[in-house]
Amino acid sequence: MVVTQKSSYTSKLVINCAGLYSDKVARMTVPALNVKIIPFRGEYYKLKKEKEYLVKNLIYPVPDPNFPFLGVHFTRMAKGGVEAGPNAVLAFSREGYKKSNINVSELAESLAWPGFQKVAAKYWRTGMGEMYRSFSKAAFTKALQKLLPEIQESDLVEGGAGVRAQACDRNGGLVDDFLILEDTGVINVCNAPSPAATSSLAIGETVSRLALSRF
Ligand SMILES: Cc1cc2nc3c(=O)[nH]c(=O)nc-3n(C[C@H](O)[C@H](O)[C@H](O)COP(=O)(O)OP(=O)(O)OC[C@H]3O[C@@H](n4cnc5c(N)ncnc54)[C@H](O)[C@@H]3O)c2cc1C
Repeated sequence: MVVTQKSSYTSKLVINCAGLYSDKVARMTVPALNVKIIPFRGEYYKLKKEKEYLVKNLIYPVPDPNFPFLGVHFTRMAKGGVEAGPNAVLAFSREGYKKSNINVSELAESLAWPGFQKVAAKYWRTGMGEMYRSFSKAAFTKALQKLLPEIQESDLVEGGAGVRAQACDRNGGLVDDFLILEDTGVINVCNAPSPAATSSLAIGETVSRLALSRF
């Protein structure tokens, strides 16, 4: 039985695809779950209209396979405009879309997770660099200049931000593939990082196949 704020539902199967809260929902039926969602905010700048001509295609760096995040890049948007970013900083709240969004208990949960402590100990230098780029537009611009040397700080205006739901296992692994865990009466989508939006139809097909095989 699933109890929500609006009603209660009885079902033979629950499919959990709750993104940033997928681990919390999964723990309701699998208390010993081995992964925790660590929220990483990705912040963007936008290119000023008069500089958009510099970006005629998508411009990506060569990714570092140690990290599940690509590094800042340039994206031409379908509706026009060019986005620059995103970086990857620890969000101080699961829905920490702004620097000022702080949820002490959620932050404490992230910091207390043994897997996150191992990641932080190993990659603290990279993490501090990302944090610095988050506060310093000049540093963010410098990272973008590796891809497009002509870009200047004055060409960028603040854009939006998103929060990645990144699963981290107890041993310090940032899970870099989709993670779908099955249990009695429940299918938990516990990690659906980028490119899960692009792959959403294929992921949906996989989950529906798992669901149908139970009936
Ligand atoms: C900055 C950034 C850049 C990205 N770039 C790309 C990209 O270029 N290409 C790409 O393919 N992907 C990209 N992604 C990743 C993509 O957005 C995610 O992988 C995808 O959205 C994950 O889908 P999801 O359905 O698992 O989670 P979500 O899209 O987060 O959906 C989860 C849903 O569950 C709901 N929910 C949560 N908790 C509860 C609850 N307790 N009860 C009921 N409902 C709940 C939420 O409201 C939400 O609607 C990017 C993500 C970020 C943050």
